[in-house]
Amino acid sequence: QAWQEQVPVMAYDRIMAVQAGERLVLARRIREALDRQEFELHYQPIRRISDGRIVALEALLRWRQRDGGFVPPDVFIPLAEASGLIVPIGRWTLEQAAQAHGRVAAHGHHDVAIAVNVSAVQLLADNVPEVIRDLQREHRLPRGALHVELTESVLLRQPQVARMRMLELRVAGVGIAIDDFGTGFSSMTYLRNLPLDSIKIDRGFVHQVHADERNASICRALIALAHGLGLGTVAEGVETAEELDWLRRNGCDQAQGYHLGRPAPLDKVIESIVEAA
Ligand code: C2E
Ligand code: CA
Ligand code: CA
Ligand code: CA
Repeated sequence: QAWQEQVPVMAYDRIMAVQAGERLVLARRIREALDRQEFELHYQPIRRISDGRIVALEALLRWRQRDGGFVPPDVFIPLAEASGLIVPIGRWTLEQAAQAHGRVAAHGHHDVAIAVNVSAVQLLADNVPEVIRDLQREHRLPRGALHVELTESVLLRQPQVARMRMLELRVAGVGIAIDDFGTGFSSMTYLRNLPLDSIKIDRGFVHQVHADERNASICRALIALAHGLGLGTVAEGVETAEELDWLRRNGCDQAQGYHLGRPAPLDKVIESIVEAA
């Protein structure tokens, strides 16, 4: 019970990091930004380590304001959650992701999934499985075309609702990854009981993993744990060839990070996929 209380507090802390006045202005600006179409998505490749093939593209929100200002998602997403605006933003993002899958498939790459970050608030406040089923029908998406990335916090707030939604997503053929694994209140119970496909190892643990004995121990343990449960492993924030090489030698399945491709507008990403093929 007590630790469930900490989840909103964490988001609150992040909101408080922004000056109070600025915060109010931002909340109003988020509402306008949706109407004015100031949001865009960038896509970052997730690659299979064994052969370097792109298996998915993670959609990452970008907010470029008309005055040229850039607000990072770490700042505006907690605000959008607090104001409920995460629901329309999340729906817009899923719609964009469905379109993105169609565009990548049109270039012959049908098996590249689009991974979407779904916030805890969004999963609990909106009927995300139904939204996704509608998109699958409308865009004729194959099973597996969309993945969702959930953070651990969602599982602690309303575990029963979260579990139901996840089961529905599984039935709809949506892959489910736990994001930033190891940074929240990881529980072995949910790893055992929830319908997951993979865990994403937080980039804090991946950093210098070839040289940092502590990070190496954690990554080895997380990979063994995931594989023991039949789950895949994705290393986040891979910035060097040395890190990637360590991950390959230690059996990590997939990787993502600046070394393997930076987030970029979809056109750019498609160009690079087509060139590499
Ligand atoms: P995340 O889901 O953990 O996304 C990974 C973040 O790491 C992204 O930051 C990405 O640009 C960055 N990154 C990727 N490779 C590297 C690397 O090699 N080194 C370093 N240092 N960073 C790397 P970004 O785009 O600023 O997003 C921050 C967070 O905002 C995301 O963390 C996610 O929690 C949230 N977010 C982004 N887009 C959405 C969205 O559409 N919906 C929701 N609910 N949250 C989102
Ligand atoms: Ca993510
Ligand atoms: Ca992550
Ligand atoms: Ca992260």
